[in-house]
This record gives sequence, structure tokens and C-alpha cells, in this order.
Amino acid sequence: MMVHPVHAKKTARCRIIISNCTNFPPPSDMSLAALPDPALIAHAAELIDGADAIIVAAGAGMGVDSGLPDFRGNEGFWKAYPALAKARLEFTRIANPSAFEQNPALAWGFYGHRLKLYRDIRPHAGFDILKEWGESKPNGWAVFTSNVDGQFQRAGFTDGPVHECHGSIHHLQCLESCCDDIWPADDFRPDIDEVNCLLLNEPPTCPHCGGLARPNILMFGDWGWLDHREAKQNHALARWLQNCRRPVVIEIGAGTAIASVRAFSHQVTSRENGRGNAQGNGLGNGRLIRINPRESQVPGTRDVGLATGALTGLRLIQRCLQPD
Ligand SMILES: [Zn+2]
Repeated sequence: MMVHPVHAKKTARCRIIISNCTNFPPPSDMSLAALPDPALIAHAAELIDGADAIIVAAGAGMGVDSGLPDFRGNEGFWKAYPALAKARLEFTRIANPSAFEQNPALAWGFYGHRLKLYRDIRPHAGFDILKEWGESKPNGWAVFTSNVDGQFQRAGFTDGPVHECHGSIHHLQCLESCCDDIWPADDFRPDIDEVNCLLLNEPPTCPHCGGLARPNILMFGDWGWLDHREAKQNHALARWLQNCRRPVVIEIGAGTAIASVRAFSHQVTSRENGRGNAQGNGLGNGRLIRINPRESQVPGTRDVGLATGALTGLRLIQRCLQPD
């Protein structure tokens, strides 16, 4: 393991305590041998210290430390939903508009359970760390996420751009798309038979035609998803990015299987985008910190990858960043 000299680099807003990147006991869930190279942690701390804005780009791995189930592969999915395992029903078949048409009680049993879970769960401490870093920057923070769980809003990310690229379970739309309306799911209180994954009370309905309502989430084989809420969020984030000069993208738990989050990260950090950009704005001038236990490789030497879970990676970086 590389050993750094004990020194502190002082800057206007933060002090990077390099010794803190090398000299600490590992988090309780990690052995010392499994820790990322301290040079990588120090590199990540320097990128955050030098940034004028923080962009959090989050995939499914962000929720694992809050205790949310991991849907990776049939095994992970069926472990969380034994009733669907018994029926041999894969994620792609229940997360599908046709499931609402064929078996509304089962489809809403699944989504109603998730809605309750996401309402009840407490976001892990990594959300607070990210928010604190963002609030210390002149341009603040923004969020891009493929998660539909609303956990960033629950953690207090409410007064800046949040782009939920696959929609939100906390919003509803008409299954038949009789109109363009998207409305909050707040009034719907699902009562779930968890053993059989079935909704016991009345499913939500469309206030315009009285037909069945569905979550405003992009599903598999989905031609009816209303995307104007997502498009508005997309524009707000793009506008915000115009004012950034040195953004850092902290990408967390976003794998290569569903690549929308990675595509966004690379759009902000790719030097090729930066070259034609006369305004010198955030697009193309960003740096990337990728936190991912299995796929942490990064495209360039100025970027950095940490092979850890979300909370562990954020805590390791936080220990190197001490406010002045
Ligand atoms: Zn309708």
C-alpha cells in the first residue's frame, strides 16, 4: 500500500488531510486489504475540493446502504419478492404496463409495496455527506438518478435540480394515457398482502376517465410513459449546468447494464464535449469520481474510481476533507 507523507493541503474552503486518507481503521464492514488505495481516496478528495459544483449521478447501488433490496439478477429480485419467485415472474414482466392490464392487484401489489417501502425508509448518511459538499460550493448541487424511489428528496435535496430520468414512483398517470396529467401519489395508501404480493384495497384511478392509474415510471416495453415531468427536470439541470465551470460528477452505484446514468456522467466529463464548448461551461469540463464495488474503472487519468459501496466510499473521502 502506498504511504503518503503526513501533510495538509490548505485551500480556501477545505483542508485535505492526506494523512487521514492513509491512517485510519477501515470501516467496520471492510477489511484493511479491501480498502481502495489511499492515493485514490486523496485524488477524489482533491477533485471535490477543487470543484465549483457537485453533481450526484446515482444508480440502484445508491440505495443498498439504506437497506433497499438489490434487484440484480433473478435471484436478488426473487429473494425480495418470494411470491413472484413462486410464480417464476421476472422483474421485466412485472415492471411492465401489460402487468397492470392483466393483473392489476398483482402489479399494484408489487409497486404498492415499493411505494410504502420508499416512503418509510430512512436514507443513509451518505446522502447528508453529499448534500453538505454540494452546499459548500458556489454553484451548489444537482442530482441525476435512474432511481424512482424519491430518496434524494426525502434526504432534503429539494431546492435544486433533480433529474429522475426513469420517472418517480411517487407520481401517477393514467394507464390508458387518456390525458397528459401526472399527479402525486400522496393520497394512495396501499394495503398489501406481502405473502402473495397482492394489493388488498382499491388501486388508484385516473381523475379524468376513472380508469386504472399506474406509476409514472418508465417500465419495460413501455410506450405509454408520460415523460414531460422528466423532460422539465432535464431542462432545469441543463440550465443549471450552464453556470458551472469545474463540476465534479460523483457517480454512485450505476452499473453498465442500464447505462443511462453512465451516459450522463460521460456527457459532463468527456473532454470531447468540452472542446467545442466556447462558453467553457460545465458540459465537458467536469471530472468524474466513480464509486462502484464491481465496475469502478474510469475513462481518464484525471478521473478516479473507488471500488466500494456508496456509504463506505463517501465516508473514506469525507475523512480526508476537513472544513476550515
Ligand atoms: Zn384516464
